[in-house]
Amino acid sequence: MFCLLCLVPLVSNAKTSGKTRAEVKRVIIHSIGGPYCKNGSVFYSSSAGNAKRWIEFFNRHRVLGIHYVIDKAGRVEAGVPENQIANHAKGHNADSIGIELVNRGDGKDPYPDKQLGMLVAALRSIIRRWGIDKSAIVAHSAVDKRTFHCGGREIKTKHDPGPAFPWDRVLNAIR
Ligand SMILES: [Zn+2]
Repeated sequence: MFCLLCLVPLVSNAKTSGKTRAEVKRVIIHSIGGPYCKNGSVFYSSSAGNAKRWIEFFNRHRVLGIHYVIDKAGRVEAGVPENQIANHAKGHNADSIGIELVNRGDGKDPYPDKQLGMLVAALRSIIRRWGIDKSAIVAHSAVDKRTFHCGGREIKTKHDPGPAFPWDRVLNAIR
């Protein structure tokens, strides 16, 4: 199998995801979109598309990987199996499960009820099966402290899932 544009073989050892593990200690919540700098201003990348579009993106990606993608209609797509490492949070991959939510992550794009309902169901199942506490459900922005320069300012590289994500509501719903 070859990438037609880059002519680099898409072999499994090119991917950093896939190593098996016996333990999961955390769940890291992401949004697809995130900030970038253009002409000194911060913009948020698009998250257009459904869960199927994004799981295909991650499954094809030569570096990145993800365990689940949940879109705004509440569709859940599984990528890397839970007992395998996925490359979704630099420095925090070995013991975590990554969930991407289809959202710009800009604090304005809403997280609809259907999406949050499926997320709560997935989180309940994950923490029960792996024997972890819901305090171990964390934001990508909480574990990645990197920054970038933009227009003379220092901007956090990872905001996700961002200020529109209703943490209290989600954690309370898990019980
Ligand atoms: Zn993220």
